[in-house]
Amino acid sequence: MLPRIPLAHLPTPVDPLPRLTAALGGPEILVKRDDQTGLAFGGNKTRKLEYLIADAQARRADTLITGGAIQSNHCRQTAAAAARLGFNCILVLTGNEPTAPSGNLLLDRLFGARTVYTSRDRREAAMQAAVTEAETAGLKPYLIPYGGSNPIGAAAYAFAVQELIAQGIEADWIVFASSSGGTHAGLAAGAQLFGFNGKVLGISIDEPNDVLTHRVAKLATETSALLDHPNVFMPGDILANVDYLGGGYGVMGAVEVEAVQMLARLEGLLVDPVYTGRAAAGMIDLIRKGFFHSAARVLFWHTGGQPALLAENYAGVVGE
Ligand SMILES: *Cc1c(COP(=O)(O)O)cnc(C)c1O
Repeated sequence: MLPRIPLAHLPTPVDPLPRLTAALGGPEILVKRDDQTGLAFGGNKTRKLEYLIADAQARRADTLITGGAIQSNHCRQTAAAAARLGFNCILVLTGNEPTAPSGNLLLDRLFGARTVYTSRDRREAAMQAAVTEAETAGLKPYLIPYGGSNPIGAAAYAFAVQELIAQGIEADWIVFASSSGGTHAGLAAGAQLFGFNGKVLGISIDEPNDVLTHRVAKLATETSALLDHPNVFMPGDILANVDYLGGGYGVMGAVEVEAVQMLARLEGLLVDPVYTGRAAAGMIDLIRKGFFHSAARVLFWHTGGQPALLAENYAGVVGE
């Protein structure tokens, strides 16, 4: 068993989405509420952090260092977990420091994280520099990769498949937002390990097919090995849809706005501008195109992200 520190409220609920299902004319759509993991507005990173921070504690670290976009949900959840467990937290954020922090960045500050800013091409070097600087200052840093996506973080999503099966939920498809690949790899590894019968379809947020499927296959293979159930995944074993990259990472276009508004107005359910709004837009478009069998059951795995709705750069777009 992998060491784990409980941070999330599990199991997360599974809710039907009857009005969305009716509006689209089937298939049946359900939602797995990982936006309700309970740590600082929740999200998929909470599950990963349960295992990552257990590893950090085992290594006697006192400082968590990670990185992401300015509106990174991963950074916000890491900052909250650090506060709760008494770690220092340093976040390496890609972009210019905003004059007025909003959304996730506002929360990072509230949790007492230190934020440093870098450019996208220098982000790996900047994270390494933060580690070195912390060591020089006499701290014991633990580096969490982007999105918490290494085998330890991804293992959390293998166990999440076990949780879903234990809830008695069957689905023909699991659809979700995929980016750094840990969620995707964990779900793929977990489906294999725990005998989930449906298909696991990641909607790519920002990567082309070859990059995402190679990354997820490698990580799913490593995750299976970590869980003592070695299984080799090839890129061709990974289901990814890359038709919804839109204007690129973090750019909210008309289809994302439509998805955010549809879920809000039909179900009172909030999805976010960057990840779940884009994945929901993809799912809605695939349903309209008849991609899923009309008698199928589709489980939308909600990965969180809602604080970004209130970020200065998105709030005006969705509030129309
Ligand atoms: C990080 C994130 C994702 C993507 O998960 P990965 O494991 O990085 O692929 C999806 N949705 C939200 C809201 C996220 O914050």
